Amino acid sequence: MAVDNRVATNQAPPLVGHDVISSDQALVDAVRTHGSPETAEELRPIGVLAGTEEAQEHGRLANRHTPELVPFDRYGNRVDEVRFHPSWHWLMERGVGFGLGAAPWTSDDPHAHVRRAAGFFGWSQTEPGHGCPISMTYAAVPALRADDALAKEWTPRLASTTYDFGLRPADAKAGALAGMGMTEKQGGSDVRQNLTEAHPTAVDGEYTLHGHKWFTSAPMNDVFLVLAQASGGLTCFLVPRVLADGSRNRIDVMRLKDKLGNRSNASSELELDGTWAQRLGDEGRGVRTIIEMVAATRLDCVLGSASLMRKALAEASWHVAHRSAFGSLLADKPLMQNVVADLAVESEAATALGIRLAGAVDRLSDPHEAALRRIALPLAKYWVCKRTPMMVAEALECLGGNGYVEESGLPLLFRESPLNSIWEGSGNVNALDVLRALGREPEVLDAWIVEVGKAQGADPRLDRAVRTTLETLADTAGAEVHARRLAVQMALCLQGALLVQHSPAEVADAFCASRLGGEYAGTLGTLPGGLDLPAIVRRATPVLQ
Ligand SMILES: Cc1cc2nc3c(=O)[nH]c(=O)nc-3n(C[C@H](O)[C@H](O)[C@H](O)COP(=O)(O)OP(=O)(O)OC[C@H]3O[C@@H](n4cnc5c(N)ncnc54)[C@H](O)[C@@H]3O)c2cc1C
Repeated sequence: MAVDNRVATNQAPPLVGHDVISSDQALVDAVRTHGSPETAEELRPIGVLAGTEEAQEHGRLANRHTPELVPFDRYGNRVDEVRFHPSWHWLMERGVGFGLGAAPWTSDDPHAHVRRAAGFFGWSQTEPGHGCPISMTYAAVPALRADDALAKEWTPRLASTTYDFGLRPADAKAGALAGMGMTEKQGGSDVRQNLTEAHPTAVDGEYTLHGHKWFTSAPMNDVFLVLAQASGGLTCFLVPRVLADGSRNRIDVMRLKDKLGNRSNASSELELDGTWAQRLGDEGRGVRTIIEMVAATRLDCVLGSASLMRKALAEASWHVAHRSAFGSLLADKPLMQNVVADLAVESEAATALGIRLAGAVDRLSDPHEAALRRIALPLAKYWVCKRTPMMVAEALECLGGNGYVEESGLPLLFRESPLNSIWEGSGNVNALDVLRALGREPEVLDAWIVEVGKAQGADPRLDRAVRTTLETLADTAGAEVHARRLAVQMALCLQGALLVQHSPAEVADAFCASRLGGEYAGTLGTLPGGLDLPAIVRRATPVLQ
């Protein structure tokens, strides 16, 4: 029989038309545990829309047609606009509309942050770049609380579920978005080196800023929290993009960054020259003020990375469930089962930890939850974000050559995958923050011990890992050189404790054997024998509605 080259055989159909949230058992279980069964149900519209061909196509287009800086109008006037493809606006409108910005801070739902975290996790699977302005909008509110009047003025705008794009005074808009300007050329992590100056005006609490910012993402947002040096030291300022009289604040967008990934999102270099600003918090308390925003964005780094992992896992498990080689489905090959099961374990551990931390935000008035969040956020940010590039690369390889081709969507995930480890405190900075928390706040170690203690006796490998971690803590005595080792061990114990309590036995068993029991050979796909790999793969494989 002649070969018909016009019809492709043995290719997986596109993964569209599934509810990316409901078909993710690990996510649903985490939401039920740390939120409620109703919370999981409420997320359905987000999951269904995120899985449609339409949404996936908007994600592709927003990355293909990247934002464009328009510094001047046709007459030479400075306008500092950024032009986006309509697909960017389509994604933003829905992301904000689903309440993924600052809405949880004004909600009386006791699970508002878990709901939003899972929604963000699911919706980011359309495309990750537009998560940046949404995250910063979510994160600005806790920092704004340093000033009652500014919080009262800005929180309702940021909590709005209306996406209202364009440079107009915030009062005239149905919703606003926030950004942050910390990083400068001479120092990002070490913000004490910031050179941008703040000069007080004649009006109390008002200043002008003079300097630059080396990275400020989403420069079209309506308001920014910015660090600058005042006479009393490094201080946080609120900087609106447009002033109340409708004129544009002096924020010159010098250029947009040409980035590895995150291409749908605009990240800019700014110059500030007489930029009007209001002080947020006291002079000299800039880091203390903006750290609240940093903490909330770190949660989104964990969730964003876990979301990248889940999307990569969904594509990998879907592909192997449809592609045959050497006489049978790839999904039935023992070695491929080992790879996909290992990916699934990594993904579930990341998901469980991210949603657990969102639950802590819902219960911050509980001292245990507040202390746990303080220590577990930098741990999780360090570990989950570090695992993402290798995990996504392995998932990409499950698709063989197809995975390396743009149309598969995997290259986009791969390019995005290192980012969450860099911004909001790079890997070392987060590992060192774990040491700082342990050194300055004794209650955070107690919180970690209580949290992992909830699973005591459930698995001897976990019990042993907790003991070893405490020994490492005692042996290393806060030495910076060992900060990563300690962060990894503490994060793994937290993940293990969550999985043995709340995930199916086969997932917890595989995690404990490999990540805690030492049966790990350096790459994914090296799970030891005696595990129920087919069950883990089945749980991870998306199901169409
Ligand atoms: C796409 C993108 C968007 C961004 N958007 C924003 C934004 O909107 N607003 C904003 O303010 N910033 C933004 N950033 C900047 C980002 O937060 C910084 O790049 C990051 O904090 C690291 O700072 P840096 O680049 O100056 O690197 P450095 O601080 O110079 O760090 C370089 C390396 O040294 C390590 N290091 C630093 N200190 C120590 C130490 N004490 N011991 C050991 N190692 C150390 C770091 O972990 C890192 O690996 C963005 C960055 C990217 C890539």
